[in-house]
Amino acid sequence: MATEIVEQLRKQLEHLRELGVEGIGVSKTPVVTQPQQVSTDPFEPIHREIGDCTRCPLFEQRTHVVHTEGNRKARLMFVGEAPGADEDAQARPFVGRAGQLLTKIIEAIGMKREEVLIGNVNRCRPPGNRAPMPDEVAMCKPFLLREIAAVQPEVIVVLGNTATKNLLDTREGITRLRGNFQEYQGITVMPTFHPAYLLRDPSKKRETWEDMKKVRDYLDNP
Ligand code: URA
Repeated sequence: MATEIVEQLRKQLEHLRELGVEGIGVSKTPVVTQPQQVSTDPFEPIHREIGDCTRCPLFEQRTHVVHTEGNRKARLMFVGEAPGADEDAQARPFVGRAGQLLTKIIEAIGMKREEVLIGNVNRCRPPGNRAPMPDEVAMCKPFLLREIAAVQPEVIVVLGNTATKNLLDTREGITRLRGNFQEYQGITVMPTFHPAYLLRDPSKKRETWEDMKKVRDYLDNP
């Protein structure tokens, strides 16, 4: 076996000499191949593809693209509309006043913010905090759906009209749908009021609490 290898090598070197090769350089420095750094974050390829997005006009006035954040193995996910001024500045979803209320809502059902996933239908702030237009939603929503497919949370809470209509593909508004479990691709969905709406009308907090108790009970006994 060894002699065969030596003979093959000899023939190859002879062939190279015939071709005019006079010597083969051998590096004294050993070639060390580094182990590849492979990301285990299922969102990494999605966020890389979004990149410095210019797919819709919202890029013109945004400061940051605001990605979904939180536990990639979350059982519970919250989906809002689009970043506001604070989120745009900090590149994180739900960090302003509405976000602080959302954190309290999460804690009220005995969970921590870091345990859940928090995202939006649109990742760039619409000017003046208007609702995103249908063509803007159409460009951005597929990335959210890919994140949902990657994590497969057990429950998604859709916050307010924009999230409810766009995740469930319905024209029904939040007032009709809130408090009743819906379904998206086999995942249980609970529509409830947006925390920004609760800041404007605190009397609606009671209904949101009822909705969240249903979510908590569902997660306790799936
Ligand atoms: N409102 C939203 O819908 N999303 C945020 O991230 C912040 C406020």
